[in-house]
Amino acid sequence: MSEFMSYDEILVKCQEINTKYEINQERFDEIVDCIIDNEEMSADEKIAKAFERLLQAVNKEIGDMETTARLQPTCQMGCAFCCYFPIVTNKMEARLIKDAIGKMPENRKSFIENHLLNYYQTYQDKINDLHDLDIATDPDAKYTYKKANLPCPFLNLETNACTIYEIRPLPCRTYVNYTDPKVCAENVMPKETISYEFLYQEYMGAMNELLQYLYENEKIENVDYPGDLYQEDLLINWMKEAVR
Ligand code: SF4
Repeated sequence: MSEFMSYDEILVKCQEINTKYEINQERFDEIVDCIIDNEEMSADEKIAKAFERLLQAVNKEIGDMETTARLQPTCQMGCAFCCYFPIVTNKMEARLIKDAIGKMPENRKSFIENHLLNYYQTYQDKINDLHDLDIATDPDAKYTYKKANLPCPFLNLETNACTIYEIRPLPCRTYVNYTDPKVCAENVMPKETISYEFLYQEYMGAMNELLQYLYENEKIENVDYPGDLYQEDLLINWMKEAVR
C-alpha cells in the first residue's frame, strides 16, 4: 500500500476543508487597518508592506486549512516543477516585485539582475513563442506553457530555489501537492495537486481596500490606481522590462 494519499482521498480532504473551514477574513482586514494607521510610512511604503503581509496571510490561511483537514504538504525543498507553470500577475504586483528587488542588499540584488540578464538571453526563443499566450481566455494556454518547459525567471536552476522567495507572488503559494511528489515529475498537469487560488479574492480585496483609502486620502506615486490592478500579464513579460 502506498504511503501517499490517493487522488480520491485528496478529494475527500478538499470536501472537508469546504465544509469545516471558514476563511479568516479578519486576518486580512487587520493587516489593512494596521497599515492605514501607520503614520510613519508613505502611501507607497504602505502598499509595499501590505503586499508582503497579505501574501504572508495567504500562507497562514493555507496552513490553517491544512490543520483543519490534517494535511501535510509533500512539496520538498529543491523540487521546482511548479516553477514551470505560467505565473500571471497584475502590473502593480510586478512593479512591487521589481521595487522589492531594488531594495535588496547589493549582492543579492546584483545576483538577481545578472540571473535575469542570463535568463532572457538563454530562453529568448521560448519566451518569444509564449509571449502572447492568453491564460485568461485560451483553455490550452496553461498546458502549452507548461509543456514548453520554460523555468520561471526567478528560479535558480543550480539550487532549484526561488530567488525572490519572500515576495513570490500568490500563484506560487497556492499550488500544493499532498501526495507522491512523483506526480509533479511525471505529469505536465498533475490532477492530484490542490490550488488555493480562490484566496486571491481575500488578498486582492484587502489590497484594493487599502489602495482605495490611499487614493482618496494620501498621495500614491508608484501605482496607477485602479488601472494597474486590471492589467495582467505573464511574469516572463513583466520581468523582461526590468532587464531592458
Ligand atoms: S517566483 Fe519563485 S516560487 Fe514562483 S514560480 Fe518563480 S521561482 Fe517558483
